[in-house]
Amino acid sequence: MPGTLLFGIDVESASPASVGVAQWGTVLFEQLETPVTYYVTGSTLQAYPEAFQEVDSNPWVEVQSHTYNHLLLKTVLVQVPPGKVVHNSTDWFMQRGGSVAEVEEDLTRCQELWERVLGRRATALTGPWCYYRGLGDRPDLLEIVCGLGFRALRCWGRDERDGQPTPLEWQPFFYRVQGFPEALEIMAHDYQDDFYWRMFVQPGPEDTYLEHLKTVADRVARDDLVWSMASHDHGCDTSEGFAQKGDWWREILEYAKGLGIRCLSVSQYYDERLKEEQEQG
Ligand SMILES: [Zn+2]
Repeated sequence: MPGTLLFGIDVESASPASVGVAQWGTVLFEQLETPVTYYVTGSTLQAYPEAFQEVDSNPWVEVQSHTYNHLLLKTVLVQVPPGKVVHNSTDWFMQRGGSVAEVEEDLTRCQELWERVLGRRATALTGPWCYYRGLGDRPDLLEIVCGLGFRALRCWGRDERDGQPTPLEWQPFFYRVQGFPEALEIMAHDYQDDFYWRMFVQPGPEDTYLEHLKTVADRVARDDLVWSMASHDHGCDTSEGFAQKGDWWREILEYAKGLGIRCLSVSQYYDERLKEEQEQG
């Protein structure tokens, strides 16, 4: 089996860019007949409930959660690689995470909104910014997250310096050691988007993100890996802006599928893993 691609888009800006992804993105994935997952912030769902109800009725796009207010679940402390500039810093950059009480309040509010607007709770959660080790070192947060009904977590998306890329060697796993054997970490691999690739790599003028992604896809297919790929709604408020993302979304999905890589939504992947886990006893 030549690999699995889980494509997830953070729809987080609570602006017309979010509507761009809800509309043009959904048309694109339907045309490609490719399952993807939108991780939508509560503030975005609150601002455009009808647009995302429409998305939620589409069989190719799954609507899941990205917290209510884009609250970081953990603090991110990036050790900037020598010679690089990351978030305008050359040595260290810190983005503070919420307190435990703030996380609980935000996610509770988020699930209430999901029930009100979509008639169900979210079962998957992307942690804003993502973290080294995901929630593996925070059983207190796992307890909150699992207690609210989240089962598939996309929280591990940084290396040991809180930088990117997140190596593909780190594959999805259940948080069994922490005491949450039904909580699956699916990771956010490699770079979290084209702008992070530019920030961490500082590529040459001839280099393109698509060419980089093709090398990732080649490896995923060769080694039969799971690849959790990420992007964002940023700049998608106009059709020209949407094309900046949509063109590489289309091309990498077509390329990956051409290699025999299968694409799944997060809950399709979660259900499969849980079943395997239960069969192994
Ligand atoms: Zn985000």
